[in-house]
Amino acid sequence: MKNFSFYNPTKIIFGAEQIAAISQEVPANARVMLAYGGGSIKKNGVYDQIIAALGDRLVSEFSGIEANPEYETLVRAAQQVNTDKVDFILAAGGGSVIDGVKFIAAAAHYQGDPWEILTKGGKVVKSAVPFGTVLTLPATGSEMNSGSVVTRAEYKAKLPFGSPLVYPVFSVLDPTTTYTLPVRQVINGVIDPFVHVMEQYLTYPVGAHLQDRLAEAILQTLIDVGPQALAEPENYEVRANVMWCATMALNGLIGVGVPQDWSTHMIGHELTALYGLDHAQTLAVVLPANLRVRKADKLAKLVQYAERVWGITEGSDDEKAEAAITKTEEFFFNLGAGTRLEHYDLDSSVIDTIIKQLESHRMVKLGENQDVTPDVSRAILERALSAS
Ligand code: NAP
Ligand code: FE
Repeated sequence: MKNFSFYNPTKIIFGAEQIAAISQEVPANARVMLAYGGGSIKKNGVYDQIIAALGDRLVSEFSGIEANPEYETLVRAAQQVNTDKVDFILAAGGGSVIDGVKFIAAAAHYQGDPWEILTKGGKVVKSAVPFGTVLTLPATGSEMNSGSVVTRAEYKAKLPFGSPLVYPVFSVLDPTTTYTLPVRQVINGVIDPFVHVMEQYLTYPVGAHLQDRLAEAILQTLIDVGPQALAEPENYEVRANVMWCATMALNGLIGVGVPQDWSTHMIGHELTALYGLDHAQTLAVVLPANLRVRKADKLAKLVQYAERVWGITEGSDDEKAEAAITKTEEFFFNLGAGTRLEHYDLDSSVIDTIIKQLESHRMVKLGENQDVTPDVSRAILERALSAS
């Protein structure tokens, strides 16, 4: 196991009817900004529960944070934080609203051009407005981590930043808020955490037995509860397990002391920025191809994954690895996600454009060994084109 330090200050408040608990978590004299997306929280009653819990605190609102939150929108919100002298932000929604609020929190205090937070990285962030979240779409893990991804449509760019200053102070996870999710978002909410685990688990063995077992437990639980969440949308137990899996997949715990890949995510970000695929849709396309192209490097862990997660015991190592990749791909496809570029009407003509964008974003040495060069990314995209 590699050396590590682990820090995660986010308080999780989990369960039905827990939104009321924010009345104790938001400072009593706070000037609050309630930030949310396109209005799903107004339709499913989450908004009313939040307003009731905030009581007589001064509350301003910022709505309209898009899926794949847009830089220009977030900069406007940061300006509103300063004009309204907001000292606590409450994010209500999925990963986009929470990621957006992380950027707003950092940009409101940032002295220079806020674009630098994305181009120079989170190290330039020296202070941020504190914020809490009410999660309504379990998927990204953003509710308990310090990462954020922001899109700037003008540049067709989707760039990540991270800073310990943007951990949420608290996050409320009420599984009943997810009953109203559209099918497509339920699917996304199973695939994104699954791939988060794979990016941290499916690298090379370093003798981190507990991290491996935790990762395998999350994968197996998602394999069980994913289809059930689609079949029984209001099954509390199922939704609760999906929700906690998504948080545990990317709150840092399984990633300590192990090599991490993240190339699937970085290639996927370009696909979203250029062609508008949902984040999880890009992952379902890129991950199987990525594992196939880099099978030799990842063989030891692929065999472990095959045996322990999918119960594949027959065949040579190579056959077990291939069978496990096929199982993974079928899992995504059977949930209802496309797993090839052709499923999104994209053909080989897009590959040059994606590679150019990766290069312009300096995504040229990706993966746990920094050996996913543009040539390797190209091979992955070619592999992802079609089933034949
Ligand atoms: P999302 O973009 O936050 O939300 C997708 C859609 O779901 C929105 O239209 C939203 O509507 C709707 N929705 C949310 N909750 C709902 C509910 N309970 N009922 C009905 N509709 C609901 O989706 P996401 O997958 O959570 O976030 C994706 C973003 O997170 C991407 O930008 C991705 O790159 C990023 N990401 C971040 C991390 C991280 O660690 N920070 C990791 C992976 C991905 P409203 O707008 O109306 O609410
Ligand atoms: Fe993700």
